[in-house]
Amino acid sequence: MVQEQNYWLTTVAMPPTDPSRALPETADVAVIGAGYTGLSAARTLAAKGAKVVVLESETIGWGASSRNGGMVLTGMKLGVHKLISMYGRERTERMYAAALASIDCVEQIVHEESIACDLARCGHLEVACKQAHFDDYARQVEVIGREFHHALKIVPRSELRSEIGSNLYFGGMVDESSVGLNPARYVAGLGWAALRAGACVHETTRVEHIGRANHHRSPGWRLETSRGPLWVRDVFVATSGYTGRATPALQKKIIPIGSYIIATEVLPEPLARELSPRNRMIYDSKNYIYYYRLTPDNRMLFGGRAAFFPESGDTIRKSAEILRRGMVEVYPQLRDTRVEFVWGGTLDFAFDIMPHAGQIDGLYYSVGYAGHGVAMATYQGQLMARRIAGENPQNPFDGIPFPGAPLGLYNGKPWFLPFAGAYYKFLDWLS
Ligand SMILES: Cc1cc2nc3c(=O)[nH]c(=O)nc-3n(C[C@H](O)[C@H](O)[C@H](O)COP(=O)(O)OP(=O)(O)OC[C@H]3O[C@@H](n4cnc5c(N)ncnc54)[C@H](O)[C@@H]3O)c2cc1C
Repeated sequence: MVQEQNYWLTTVAMPPTDPSRALPETADVAVIGAGYTGLSAARTLAAKGAKVVVLESETIGWGASSRNGGMVLTGMKLGVHKLISMYGRERTERMYAAALASIDCVEQIVHEESIACDLARCGHLEVACKQAHFDDYARQVEVIGREFHHALKIVPRSELRSEIGSNLYFGGMVDESSVGLNPARYVAGLGWAALRAGACVHETTRVEHIGRANHHRSPGWRLETSRGPLWVRDVFVATSGYTGRATPALQKKIIPIGSYIIATEVLPEPLARELSPRNRMIYDSKNYIYYYRLTPDNRMLFGGRAAFFPESGDTIRKSAEILRRGMVEVYPQLRDTRVEFVWGGTLDFAFDIMPHAGQIDGLYYSVGYAGHGVAMATYQGQLMARRIAGENPQNPFDGIPFPGAPLGLYNGKPWFLPFAGAYYKFLDWLS
């Protein structure tokens, strides 16, 4: 029987907070959302001496930060050719460097805070679903090596068995710099780190409304929350795919998209080694992507956008079977393997599929990680905290154009997702 439960949460307890503690009347900064973005920012701000209050409508790590694949990947969602055409070489180079720095940032925090989250530099493998996708790998390796001095390795089909126990693909591309970790243990560790640094975290505290307000003539913000009001000088919105009505301008720029994961029973060691001889983080080259990896205890964790809508009981149940079929297609060896867990979470896509940080209507924010958020959310949280503290850190994603829906035809309710899902399936068939 498949449990509708996040496997990662069976491996860790989140830091306890005091539910009876009242909100303070005032603080320097309110951080909305206790995932990687918010907790990383809170840790940095508190360490700089700011009085920081983290407001989380559910519990620490409740959002995507405890539910993801734990793949800490180099690069961004968009390919390098597309990025250069959008931003030019110089900015793309800085973006690429920031994406690499974001992985170092995770590694540094894990070491500084002694977070036991099974972090390993095991590298990632992208596998080509079509010959044309494999041909494009060679072009990418050349440009990334030449322009960004970062080495990737092509794996031809004849050698792919050294990387993956599947005959499905036309070849692969390896980046040794990517990392794997246990995402729930990582967000729990970030939570402890923020608390130790002096941040106050208020769980089950939903921010319902934010308005400009002075306090003793100081300009700032009054937040109405499910636990009463609070005045702060600055607000940092870190709500990702769960961005809602409290920040309507941001909500209109974010498309929440569901992603789903299954985890099998624990596999025998020889089978686990056959499926993933080098323990890579793996994903394929389709638009309707599959991503998969072994967990530290040798389960196959297999994820994908089985349904485009954000998670609900219905989409999670349907996803379990869709993903199991996908997994067996990749790995026929798992035909009789039991699937023990299925869960889902919500990704945040901007209309240009880019991360965005900056200020909107005076509120600081960082969103738009498009499924590449473990490292980037941590990193942007830290950079935005430094900006809020009055520093001027280099951040190539801060202030880039942040497009809304074409013709403004979007009010935060993604009615077009079934069409988008069909469109991506069509593109996969076509290209
Ligand atoms: C199934 C899945 C697989 C993924 N796999 C990967 C992967 O392998 N690698 C990778 O890099 N990325 C992956 N991602 C993406 C990554 O998990 C996210 O980009 C990252 O966790 C975003 O962190 P965050 O802190 O910004 O947001 P979240 O962790 O989503 O936190 C946002 C929080 O804001 C809270 N909130 C929202 N509104 C309010 C309000 N009004 N008041 C108070 N609190 C509020 C929510 O309750 C939530 O806890 C995946 C995501 C999913 C869903």
